Amino acid sequence: MATDSREACIALDRADPLAGSRAGFALPDGVIYLDGNSLGALPKAAAARLAEVVGGEWGDSLIRGWTAHGWIDLPQRVGDRIGRLIGARPGEVVAADSTSVNLFKLIVAGLRLRPGRTVVLSEPDNFPTDLYMAEGATRLLGAELKLAPRAELLGAIDHTTALLLLTHVDFKTGALHDMAAITRAAQAKGALLLWDLSHSAGALPVDLGAANADLAVGCGYKYLNGGPGAPAFAFVAARHQAALDQPLSGWMGHASPFDFATAYAPAEGIGRLLCGTPPVLSLAALDAALELWDQADMTAVRAKSMALTTLFAELVEQRCPELVLASPRDAGARGSQVSFRHAEGYAIVQALIARGVIGDFRAPDLLRFGFAPLYLRHVDVWDAVEHLGAVMQTREWDRPGFRQRAAVT
Ligand SMILES: *Cc1c(COP(=O)(O)O)cnc(C)c1O
Repeated sequence: MATDSREACIALDRADPLAGSRAGFALPDGVIYLDGNSLGALPKAAAARLAEVVGGEWGDSLIRGWTAHGWIDLPQRVGDRIGRLIGARPGEVVAADSTSVNLFKLIVAGLRLRPGRTVVLSEPDNFPTDLYMAEGATRLLGAELKLAPRAELLGAIDHTTALLLLTHVDFKTGALHDMAAITRAAQAKGALLLWDLSHSAGALPVDLGAANADLAVGCGYKYLNGGPGAPAFAFVAARHQAALDQPLSGWMGHASPFDFATAYAPAEGIGRLLCGTPPVLSLAALDAALELWDQADMTAVRAKSMALTTLFAELVEQRCPELVLASPRDAGARGSQVSFRHAEGYAIVQALIARGVIGDFRAPDLLRFGFAPLYLRHVDVWDAVEHLGAVMQTREWDRPGFRQRAAVT
């Protein structure tokens, strides 16, 4: 690669087939946003839809909105829209609750699909909430959570393993699991796979169908741009739905909630994953945000993502030799993020944020940068590295205040 000038980056942006999608976002002036992997930027359509749903639908229609505006179907409609991005068929995805809550539902349901097997297997580097929810769910059921390092995972599957719980793209390093190969290996030993797609959906092409995936969850507020606390999603392969017994048997997952029957009877299909009343405002914002994805070609998204992460990694290594690459060097082996290690990572990230370059920090020493291909340009990468280089060269991070830890990093 030889993108060795700002002009060369601008030329790449001119030739970028996704260049037009940036206009769909309301990005603040003077900010280079490299944290769309943590909270996606605001799509203009989401702001407009929220105003319409609040004023027009809620304000005017009141309770009639549930049917008049189809609020009641939003979890399935939004779920199907997400499904197209992750290789699911219509009726296999629902948008609901948080990723953590969906993990709980599907960990318990997964254990119940494999009676006689009591182990949930994961890796110590999985995202903490995934492990915490597995701890809670297994404790409740008298099952067991076992952890094995990545290289030993497949060997650790045995006749007691009900479920493998893995995050497709590692939240710290961006390292990518081979979804199809691991799913096949686990299923060959009689186990199910529960994939967490929080850092995958909207970041790279995912094909749950081709991988013969069983169960999956993921996040709505990262690359999907659904807004802070946006509903998450859950996938259950059609072949598992009839037998799926999820523990949060709320009325919205009932076969006919408005019969007000005394006994619970699960809805047919993916609807049985619902629990309580859907958050209509949040779902409407996520639905509008997904319109941008309807037009995006995931092959082009992946190509641009790989180009941006490669450009960033190479420029940073040239400009800032004291930062150590923590992500796979091969773009094909990572998601849409790049992380570097430095003992003063927190202060460096704070100094960058003060310059309008927003990335984030993950303890103990990771500087993490996400590259959302729908709204980032090559020139943003160039400029961000210029700032990072200046912060490192002048030890700007060493100024008072930059080491002060906030509650959210
Ligand atoms: C972001 C993320 C979550 C978030 O869970 P919430 O319940 O939505 O807070 C869960 N798992 C992974 C792997 C994530 O990256």
